[in-house]
Amino acid sequence: MKTQILNRNESTEQAILQAGEMLKSGKTVAIPTETVYGLGANALDEKAVAKIFEAKGRPQDNPLIVHIESTDKLELYCDDIPDKAYKLAVSFWPGPLTMVLKRKSVIPSSVSAGLDTVAIRLPSNEYARRIIAASGCPIAAPSANTSGSPSPTKAEHVLHDLDGRIDAVFDGGDSEVGLESTVISLVGDVPRLLRPGAVTPEMLKEVLGEIIIDKAVTQLISSQEKVSSPGMKYRHYAPRAKMTLIRGSIDATERYIKENLCEKMAVLCFDGDEKLFSEYAFTVTYGAENDSKAQASRLFDALRLLDRDDVERIYARCPKSDGIGLAVLNRISKAAAFDIVDV
Ligand code: AMP
Ligand code: MG
Repeated sequence: MKTQILNRNESTEQAILQAGEMLKSGKTVAIPTETVYGLGANALDEKAVAKIFEAKGRPQDNPLIVHIESTDKLELYCDDIPDKAYKLAVSFWPGPLTMVLKRKSVIPSSVSAGLDTVAIRLPSNEYARRIIAASGCPIAAPSANTSGSPSPTKAEHVLHDLDGRIDAVFDGGDSEVGLESTVISLVGDVPRLLRPGAVTPEMLKEVLGEIIIDKAVTQLISSQEKVSSPGMKYRHYAPRAKMTLIRGSIDATERYIKENLCEKMAVLCFDGDEKLFSEYAFTVTYGAENDSKAQASRLFDALRLLDRDDVERIYARCPKSDGIGLAVLNRISKAAAFDIVDV
């Protein structure tokens, strides 16, 4: 299959119409969103949805997020929508928040990996919204990467993983947030945060009052365990090399790394730290120590840069955990299989 690249040689208007038509006719198109690039297909078309799982090598029990163009579409695809959902929509949509609600049967069960719930999001990225509108259908879209690798924040990342396996990618430049959406489930009595993202626990609590933070957010979940958010149990984001997070001051981190030198080593550090390590290690930075937002937008690209044959061991500086930092910590911890050393 030849993968078309849209929005490079034709007008944006034309590219949007073409992406919309391709999606409507059952093809797979990777689309830019403010979180990461998503691999889109018509969520009402079971055959189209199957192509997503196939192209990504995604386990069948890992459900997809359905993207809509306006809040009023919620009622078409979800049942028993609580007031809390509308409150969240008013505060955070369009934007990087996904809500898990009861699924109506128009959404095929395969979209939700057999669950009776469905995850729904209204993205803020203008290209994404216009493409969804042009398609005239809800768009199921997980991250547009090979299953297990870091999520794509550039069209090049999508092509690196999926060229020849999907019908098209729409080049909309770099993703703004850089981490996948916050996922909150509203089907239980108390809202449950399943995955941290740019809409932070603090922001959610302001609207909802009490929330529960699922244990998959902060802990390693074994593949045997039953989890509320199936995607959280999979090895994810990880470069081929073994990675360890070092939590502590720069001085203590430098000392630890010097005491644990190894062959083919790389250091993933904050802006400005690289000069301490570059003489003996391949170094990659992912933002300033106090800038969680920059870390979010750069982490996945940094993890991809570390994925090279001459890197077999990675030491990474551990991010802070407040605000969007919780999401950065969650993703980098998963990349390191929760191997964290306190120094
Ligand atoms: P991705 O778009 O690749 O980040 O994957 C979407 C993630 O959203 C999945 O891995 C799940 O963890 C979560 N998700 C999607 N649908 C549901 C659902 N119905 N219930 C709980 N979590 C979901
Ligand atoms: Mg994903």
